[in-house]
Amino acid sequence: MLGLMQDHPLLISSLIEFAERHHGDRAIVSRRVEGDIHRYSWADAARRSCQVAHAVEAEGVPFSGRVATLAWNGYRHLELYYGVSGAGRVVHTINPRLHPGQLIWIVNHAEDQVLCFETSFLPLVQAIHTHCPTVRRWVLLCDADKLPHDSGIPNLVSYEAWIGAQSDRYTWPRFDENSAAGMCYTSGTTGDPKAVLYSHRSTILHAYGVALPDVTGLSACDVMLPVVPMFHVNAWGTPYAAALVGASLVFPGPALDGKSLYELIEAEKVTITAGVPTIWQMLLAHVSANKLRFSRLARLLIGGSAAPLAMIETFENDYGVKAIHAWGMTETSPLGTAWAPKAKHMDLSAQQCQPLKVKQGRAIFGVDLKIIDDQGHDVPWDGKTYGDLLIKGPWILRAYYKGQGSPLIRDEHALGWFPTGDVATIDADGYMQITDRSKDVIKSGGEWISSIDIENIAVAHPAVAMAACVGVPHPKWDERPVLLVVKRAGIEVSREELLRFYEDKIAKWQIPDDVIFMDSIALGATGKILKTKLREQLKDYKLPGV
Ligand code: ADP
Repeated sequence: MLGLMQDHPLLISSLIEFAERHHGDRAIVSRRVEGDIHRYSWADAARRSCQVAHAVEAEGVPFSGRVATLAWNGYRHLELYYGVSGAGRVVHTINPRLHPGQLIWIVNHAEDQVLCFETSFLPLVQAIHTHCPTVRRWVLLCDADKLPHDSGIPNLVSYEAWIGAQSDRYTWPRFDENSAAGMCYTSGTTGDPKAVLYSHRSTILHAYGVALPDVTGLSACDVMLPVVPMFHVNAWGTPYAAALVGASLVFPGPALDGKSLYELIEAEKVTITAGVPTIWQMLLAHVSANKLRFSRLARLLIGGSAAPLAMIETFENDYGVKAIHAWGMTETSPLGTAWAPKAKHMDLSAQQCQPLKVKQGRAIFGVDLKIIDDQGHDVPWDGKTYGDLLIKGPWILRAYYKGQGSPLIRDEHALGWFPTGDVATIDADGYMQITDRSKDVIKSGGEWISSIDIENIAVAHPAVAMAACVGVPHPKWDERPVLLVVKRAGIEVSREELLRFYEDKIAKWQIPDDVIFMDSIALGATGKILKTKLREQLKDYKLPGV
C-alpha cells in the first residue's frame, strides 16, 4: 500500500517560487565588478529568473543542456542558478581561476551550449572561445550599452539584452526530481578535473541540511554573505538554503580582501558568512590591524580546509563570532559534517568547547560516515584509530559525469559508499576529524603524521602568517615532515624557535625536520594550499643530515 500524500517532485524552481511568495521583500545585495552596490529583492530575482528561463529556451538549449557560468557571486549569477535549473537545463559553474587550457578542456567535456561570463573575464574568453566549438552563444554579464563591439567573439550578447526582451512570467515545468540541475568540476588538486552532476532532489535535500539548527541554523532573520564562490560547489548550497528559509543574501563580487569584506559585512548588517580559512585569515588581519569590531556578525562557517584552533579562538573570544567548522567536498554537495555540541557539552563553557572544534564535526541526518582500514574493514570510533573516510547519502555522488564505472565501494546492502580520499578518525560521540588528504599524509617509519596537525600548530605562533607541511623522501624513515612558513610582516622568528614551539605539543618524532621560510605559498583555484606545487618546488631540496 502506498501512502496517500501529494507527490510533489523536489524541484529547484519551488525554492524561488517560495522565496518570491513568502519572502519577496527580503534583500539581495551585490557588490558588482564595477565596484558599485546593486540592490533588489527575492521577488525581483524571481522575475528575472523567469526571463532567464525564456532566454535559454529561445536559444534552443534542450532539456538537460548545459549553460555555463564564469562569474563571481552576484545577483545575475543567482538568476542563472534559478532560471537555468528551473527550466530543466543544467547550470555549469566554472572556476575562472583555472588555467585556460583546463577551462577549454572542461567546456568541451561538458559540451556547454551557452556561456555567461563576467566583464572581468573578457580577455580570458577572447583567448579561449575559438577552442570551444559547442558554445553557440556567449553572454557578457553587463548592461546592453556596455557590450564591446570589437571583442572578436561571435554571437556575443549582453546579459541584459539577452533576457531583457523576455517575459518575466514563466510557468516552471514539472519533471523528474532526479533530473540534473547543476554541474561542477572538482578543482583537480588531486588529478584530472571530474564532473559532479547535482540533481534537483539532491540540491533541495542538501539545502534543508545546510539550514538545520546544528549546521548554519539559517533563518528568515538572517543576512547571509557567502564568500565561498558560487563557482565552487554552489557556494556550499547557501543560495538555495537562503531561498528555502527566506534569508537575505549579500554577494561580495570579486572583492574578497579583508577591508572590502569587512565593509560589506558592516554596511549590510550581515549575520552569518561562509568561506575558507585563507579568507578569514585576511579578514582577521584587517580587523585586528585597524582595531575594528563586528556589530551584527554572529556566525561564521569555516570549511574547505582545516580551521586552525587559533582562528576559531580569535573569532569566538576576541570578536564574539561563533565559528562553525564544517567538512565536505565537491562530490558531497558539499556538506558532509558540521561541528555543533551535543547535550553532554552543555555544561562546558564555550571556551572549553573550542579545542573540540578542530574536529570537523558530526554527520547530520542525510549522510552517514565510516572509516575503514586497508583491507576494507571498519576501524573503531575511538578518536585515535584513523582510516579511509567513506560517506553515503542522497546528496553524495554516485558516479562522475561521463565517468567510467562507479567510484563507489559496495557494502552488504549494495548501496555503496563514496571513498572521499581523506583519512580521518571518528570518536565515540561521532565527531570526525580529518587527519589528512590520503595523498598528503606523511608516512614516517610506518607511522602517519598529519600535515594538518603540524600546520595548525605553526599558525598558532604569532610570527606565522601561513604554513604548509609536506613530506620529503628520507632514506631511513621513508618520509619526513618539512614545514614551509610565510612570516607575518614585521615579526621575526628563527627555524630553531619554531621547532621548539612544537616540543610540548606533539610527539618528538612528529616534529618537522626542517623549516623553510618562503615569500609566498602557492594557492590553488579554490584558495587551498597547492601541495603538488610545493612538492615540485622541493624536488632538489635535501633534508638536513641526509
Ligand atoms: P578538490 O577535492 O577538488 O580539491 P574540494 O573543494 O572538493 O576540492 O575539496 C574537498 C577536500 O577539501 C576534502 O576532501 C578535504 O580534504 C578538504 N576539506 C574540506 N573541508 C575541510 C575541513 N574542514 N578540514 C580539513 N579538510 C577539509
